[in-house]
Amino acid sequence: MELRELGGTGLRVSAVGFGASPLGHVFGDVPRDAARAAVRRALDLGVNFFDTSPYYGGTVSESVLGDCLRHAAVPRDQIVVATKCGRYKDEGFDFSAARVARSVDESLARLGLDYVDILHAHDIEFTSLDQIVNETIPALRKIKESGKARFIGITGLPLSIYPYVLDRVPPGSVDVILSYCHYGINDTSLVDLLPYLKSKGVGVITASPLAMGLLTDNGPPDWHPAPEELKSACRAAAEHCSKKGKSITKLAMQYSLMNNEISTVLVGMNSSKQVEENVAAAMELSTSGIDEELLHEVEAILEPVKNVTWSSGIQQA
Ligand code: NAD
Repeated sequence: MELRELGGTGLRVSAVGFGASPLGHVFGDVPRDAARAAVRRALDLGVNFFDTSPYYGGTVSESVLGDCLRHAAVPRDQIVVATKCGRYKDEGFDFSAARVARSVDESLARLGLDYVDILHAHDIEFTSLDQIVNETIPALRKIKESGKARFIGITGLPLSIYPYVLDRVPPGSVDVILSYCHYGINDTSLVDLLPYLKSKGVGVITASPLAMGLLTDNGPPDWHPAPEELKSACRAAAEHCSKKGKSITKLAMQYSLMNNEISTVLVGMNSSKQVEENVAAAMELSTSGIDEELLHEVEAILEPVKNVTWSSGIQQA
């Protein structure tokens, strides 16, 4: 598995990252044996980057990931573990300095770790971005100084949140950003922001190459926020691939992996089979390239909904 530099952090992360939200049962139940086997298989195939949050499954994802990593008995310095703070299933959003300080301790206890490699403020568009600039990031920097997190990041859906924050904090305050659903076959809008993020020295993580289930044969979960036109176009694209005996998921994975300016592609996985398929997609990309003909056909089907997204967060002042 290819390792890529993550901005200026010095971390080298696997091009395919393990998104652990499914381990919080957010896409359906996952038996513990299946979770452990998926994490074990990922490690064996060279995946070293794991992403979770206290929000996923109301803390279940963190606890299950912690259990799976302990069970795999992997040396701590061979994995890169990211979690988040500020978004909670029952409490909602709280990006106050006091809550994020408590949050990292709770996450470390659930994960069974002394430190996380990355601590993100999770979905910052749900609070005033000025609070993120003036209160949350200074609090995260203190956590970083304490050694409980090696690097800090911000996540969220609207791309405008990143320059807003990065232009207002001291240089080097934010190490990485995590963008989701903006670098895949149906939505490539993150690409326009990459030169800016590079100029700021910020590492770039993209998540949800399968558009949170839209680009799979099974389709998205009920809670998926996409507008119906996007859901039906993705369904048509998946059916087109399946009629040709091909996999939309493989194509979508490979598409997101093609841009080397993006350090890692976080894909949510809940079984060894999914791990094997997604790693195989990455390996095949590096040896044979993407199926250009199928890509053009799928791009044509998705053209009417290109970069269609949905709203997320509060109205910023
Ligand atoms: P995704 O696009 O990765 O899709 C996940 C879905 O695809 C799950 O249902 C999974 O079971 C399925 N899947 C995965 N591999 C498959 C395969 N080979 N064949 C068929 N189905 C397959 O969406 P995601 O899980 O939401 O995103 C990936 C990860 O990124 C998350 O787990 C999370 O860690 C992170 N993330 C973070 C944020 C944020 O910080 N705001 C937002 C979204 C995602």
